[in-house]
Amino acid sequence: MSLSLADVFAAQKTIAGEVVRTPLIPSPFLSERAGVPFLLKMETMQPTGAFKLRGATNAILSAPAGTKAVTCCSTGNHGRGVAYAARQQGIRATICMSSLVPKNKVDRIRALGAEVRIVGTSQDDAMAECLRLCETDGFVDISPFDDRHVISGQGTVGLEMLQDRPDLDMLLVPLSGGGLAGGVALAAKAINPDIRVIGISMDRGAAMDASIKAGRPVEVTEVASLADSLGGGIGLNNRLSFSLCRTLLDDIVLVSEEEIYRALQTLYFEDSHVAEGASVVGIAALLADKLPKPKGPTATIVTGRNVDMAQFTDAISGRPVKLGDTLVQGKAYDA
Ligand SMILES: *Cc1c(COP(=O)(O)O)cnc(C)c1O
Repeated sequence: MSLSLADVFAAQKTIAGEVVRTPLIPSPFLSERAGVPFLLKMETMQPTGAFKLRGATNAILSAPAGTKAVTCCSTGNHGRGVAYAARQQGIRATICMSSLVPKNKVDRIRALGAEVRIVGTSQDDAMAECLRLCETDGFVDISPFDDRHVISGQGTVGLEMLQDRPDLDMLLVPLSGGGLAGGVALAAKAINPDIRVIGISMDRGAAMDASIKAGRPVEVTEVASLADSLGGGIGLNNRLSFSLCRTLLDDIVLVSEEEIYRALQTLYFEDSHVAEGASVVGIAALLADKLPKPKGPTATIVTGRNVDMAQFTDAISGRPVKLGDTLVQGKAYDA
């Protein structure tokens, strides 16, 4: 059952025409800072605003013949990817969530034609409903990161990057459950065993980092972050993404909320891109001088653009941003 580059090539073929082959754009400002060509893989250009559409599309197109309905319990970019990909394929999608999920997120997923099932008051309640749908109603559950088709689908990001720039020396990959970093590292290292792949997470509640340090999947306390798409655990029964990340990542770098805030401003003012906190952690690590020394062209994946617009405009305007019980003290952008 182990994954290989062949799975990523197969995924590339499967999803061609269904997802966008995104550009890899040099950033003059960040290249100057890095001292080497620095490139941005623009997954913000996917129709759902995030790379998660790749894995979701590959998983749906690879589901057992006769699959008529899929489910998942993500309310974020994965839920959106599954809802969109299911609609494209004419398959029913039911996204399970708890009553705590804000109405705008529910509306967004409904607008994509998915059914939303509100159950209980926690993510666990929503997960239980997901499992029930699979056991009794013939639904197929699509994990956000711990599924071979999802990981091979996300791996196509890395494959495209090396197809466009075979000379890349280092990849900076935003890291949460590790579907993206695992798939990208798998593809990139099979093509160039010398390439370095660095996972980047926020410095509070980084589940993969804590798990790799502990030598087994562990739970972490989830805290509010500008990189909200990087929150959540990796699953105590993780089957694939943990061992891929543990074996293939050269390093994991953690960045603070202040560093993410500054990276949001930098990408906006220097390159005019709107991106989520989760997408700019690689840029944050560069600006904070936290990376291993680049020896050649370096690239990061700008993973998504589904920002909370009020929070985003506060950050780029230099206003403070309140996150749970902490306050990120901002200041106006100044290169
Ligand atoms: C899901 C997500 C990530 C992290 O991907 P994993 O496969 O969970 O590590 C990064 N950025 C964005 C915008 C995401 O939605």
